[in-house]
Amino acid sequence: MINSFLSVRSNLFSYVPNVTLACKRYIQTIKVGIIGSGPAGFYTAQALLKDSRVLIDIYEKYPVPFGLIRFGVAPDHQSVKNVINSFTNTALQDRVSFYGNINIGQDVTLNQLLKSYNAVVLCYGATEDRKLNIEGEDLINVLPARRFVGWYNGIPQDSDLNPFLQTEDVVIIGHGNVALDCARILLSPVDETLKSTDITNHALTALRESKVKRVYLVGRRGPLQVSFTIKELRELTKLPGCDTIVFPEDFKNITAETINELPRPRKRLTELLLSLANEKNLNNNHKRCVLMFCRSPLQIVGDKHGKVSSVNLGVNRLIQQEDGVKTELTDEKEILKCGLFLRSIGYRAVSIDPSIPLNDKTGVISNTNGKVHGFDFGLYCSGWAATGATGVIIGTMNASFEIAEHILKDFGQNEPLLVEKPGATEIIPHLKSKGVKVVTFNDWQRIDELEKNLGSQLGKPREKLVNQKDMIKAVDEEKD
Ligand code: FAD
Repeated sequence: MINSFLSVRSNLFSYVPNVTLACKRYIQTIKVGIIGSGPAGFYTAQALLKDSRVLIDIYEKYPVPFGLIRFGVAPDHQSVKNVINSFTNTALQDRVSFYGNINIGQDVTLNQLLKSYNAVVLCYGATEDRKLNIEGEDLINVLPARRFVGWYNGIPQDSDLNPFLQTEDVVIIGHGNVALDCARILLSPVDETLKSTDITNHALTALRESKVKRVYLVGRRGPLQVSFTIKELRELTKLPGCDTIVFPEDFKNITAETINELPRPRKRLTELLLSLANEKNLNNNHKRCVLMFCRSPLQIVGDKHGKVSSVNLGVNRLIQQEDGVKTELTDEKEILKCGLFLRSIGYRAVSIDPSIPLNDKTGVISNTNGKVHGFDFGLYCSGWAATGATGVIIGTMNASFEIAEHILKDFGQNEPLLVEKPGATEIIPHLKSKGVKVVTFNDWQRIDELEKNLGSQLGKPREKLVNQKDMIKAVDEEKD
């Protein structure tokens, strides 16, 4: 029995000194290092805390926590951000510590963490956008939607992106919720819908001066295959001063019977799209959001200054195959003029250490039930890094709870192998000796207070600090 346990020693346990089994059975604390303080990090932590021996250290790359809740969720979705209240309660528990401004992979290696913790959970999200790989993708004013979102939400490296808004036409490639978020932000009447949100001030100013009138949302497949959800589409249709346009011919091959047989959420979404296609009396608003189906971008065309001026689209036909609906280009082509082009075709996880296996096709860390392939026990992943960048927070929550259950089960099954580990007591002094400024949760609360104060002067819930130096300065000034 003992031998069989020892024979499944993982990479992790090759660092474990020879300790007697008796000592292992009486382990007092199980130290877990979580990388990333987004929803996956916090929900995984919440579920792991069910084992009273578990102590958690959360490491975050930015000086501020909460991942895409701060840097992704649109500013006009303020109520979605209420989840940070529950994350804050978790962070304030005695058995949890937060260490911000630490880039795992750069400031500390994964190996160092694996030596210092009984388990490490990679919850670092999916931060790289997928490319179209077509001609013209490097032109000026061709941007990933990820960076546009980062700009209006205050991600430090995107804050001076300065997207070109002195154009009437914007093309967005993609039919997911992120594409709809970008369209809504571009077409919103700033003073009615954005002014009192936590949108960054630089974005508010630029959007106020924006000349954007038409946004084309281009998807390669049809109305039955869109990835956006009904809530986001409805929001778009209700934007003051803006018509949402769907063309009836996109429904010509979709029968009432097909729609009736769809699962309920897809049926309701399709019915809403169909009702938009049947809309006879557009309000003749001066702004328009046009949904274009079965179109693939073939080439992005620039002017003599190297700035995007149009996009060549190929018209697709849909082909039903066993593993889903595929597209095939027809001979038909179209040209759409635009002065800003955003690609919004998904996110992929990056590898923060050469030992982490990434699935190239899906863009996720190769894993089974959260256990990272190649590591028997000790290294796990959760959230978008593990499942791929799809769905909403509730999906991330459920998946994180499930993965935490598997981790706790592994602790139970491998109990004789568990030994006391130093956790942050070894990592933090090492970081400080390297000159890394470590931001605690207390420090974040100072930044939080400052941002809220700045926001209240502008009638906003907060005015985000948008560069890392200012965040650190805010912490240091308070301490003086
Ligand atoms: P993330 O939220 O990305 O968290 C990952 C964390 O890891 C980040 O804090 C990051 O800084 C940190 N990190 C990365 N690399 C390192 C490193 N090397 N070292 C240390 N830390 C690191 N869902 C909704 O329900 N409603 C919405 O309105 C909504 N809007 C969205 C809008 C956008 C633009 C996007 C992209 C997503 C949206 N979602 C929304 C989905 C939701 O944000 C995700 O389900 C959720 O954030 C995924 O959680 P995560 O923890 O896996 O990733």
